[in-house]
Amino acid sequence: MAKLVALCKRRGIAFPSSEIYGGIGSTYDYGPYGVEIKNSISRLWWQEMTLSHDNIVGLDSATILHPKVWEASGHLAHFTDPLLDCKNCKSRFRADEIDVAKCPVCGMTGTLTEPRMFNLMYKANQGPVEDVENIVYLRPETAQGIYLDWQIVQETARLKVPFGIAQIGKAFRNEITPGNFIFRTREFEQMEMQYFVRPGETGPALEYWKEQRWNWLLSFGVRPEKLRWHEHEKLAHYARAAWDVEYEFPFGWSELEGIHDRSDYDLSAHQRVSGKDMQYFDPTTNERYIPHIVETSAGLNRTMLMLLCEAYREDVQAGEERIYLSLDPRVAPIKAAILPLVKKDGLAELAEQIYLKLRGRWPLFLDIQGSIGRRYRRMDELGTPFAFTLDYQTLEDGTVTVRWRDTLQQERISKDRIGEYLTEKLGERI
Ligand code: ATP
Repeated sequence: MAKLVALCKRRGIAFPSSEIYGGIGSTYDYGPYGVEIKNSISRLWWQEMTLSHDNIVGLDSATILHPKVWEASGHLAHFTDPLLDCKNCKSRFRADEIDVAKCPVCGMTGTLTEPRMFNLMYKANQGPVEDVENIVYLRPETAQGIYLDWQIVQETARLKVPFGIAQIGKAFRNEITPGNFIFRTREFEQMEMQYFVRPGETGPALEYWKEQRWNWLLSFGVRPEKLRWHEHEKLAHYARAAWDVEYEFPFGWSELEGIHDRSDYDLSAHQRVSGKDMQYFDPTTNERYIPHIVETSAGLNRTMLMLLCEAYREDVQAGEERIYLSLDPRVAPIKAAILPLVKKDGLAELAEQIYLKLRGRWPLFLDIQGSIGRRYRRMDELGTPFAFTLDYQTLEDGTVTVRWRDTLQQERISKDRIGEYLTEKLGERI
């Protein structure tokens, strides 16, 4: 992890936020290349969930919802973690994560306090006056915005049960023990899809979505032995069944995303508290019912961390250590580098011409300065799959070398075929 964290900072992928003030504890900013990786993952998730399924549409709901939402959803009463402190070293823990007999930091026994329940929702005040009357909460999950809007979405998109609503957005949790880089932070992004089915049909939907989500993760080339299912015995307040996909991170097996049967828990609760009819009229059977829901809930930042952990490689090339990210080209922040071997004799100008012709279709990097070895190293560390190098032969016969990041295999192609080559490997454009 330390090596990966260092690489992410060195190369502008992700680094601590507010660093000039000493940081603000497990809060990260995503630099130019991190933004590209994150955007690619969310774009691929969106394509998978909405474009590949006729009955799933998108939504972008507000992050601050009516405070009654959190009363109805049960988050005010139940979205808590058991917090305890060590009276000796002042460390703070989640009681469900440690052996409470002795402090895992200072090793003293009998110094841990009794657990207190701590609500994870961030509070804020809406409007100019700070008052208990105007407390609002930053959403701890994106799902509730979908539940509030499901009828208008269903009507306007003319959907019939079964159908799904997908949303990507920020969620906030005042975690007691954030950590492990971007694995657990207090501000993060979720990619959630709520799937609405007839009562009694959550079982098959859960099985279907388990398979779909598993296959999506494998599509990135993740080693299957690094993934496993975990079924929850202790269920969250809203869940009737819960399965997590876990990944073996360098710090151990941990949750990557969850697939949950939420039954009619949320819609019934909103019907009860708001007084609004949350039923669906089924035109095929003429029945009215509150739909039941299966959700797939993935963390965008965690998915990114998993892909980075999978991609991190070290090898030795010509006696020199090399670090590279073997990222799926679809998520690589730069798809190809255009590199003149030297700056002089017209090679830099020719490289620029090639770059200008192709830019706009894929994120490309024209790198003219510095030794070729150093330029390759930078691209390897960013996971750039292809490097096109112009050398003196280019001036003679118009060919360039293509260097493939993982194997370092090189082939020569015509400089006029670079666009075609990239289209073959990456598609028309991103
Ligand atoms: P955990 O047990 O790790 O706290 P959870 O079971 O509370 O997670 P869910 O409420 O099911 O998580 O949230 C769905 C997904 O959102 C998780 O699988 C994870 O990918 C992501 N997620 C949840 N909390 C965080 C966080 N603090 N930082 C980053 N991602 C998170």
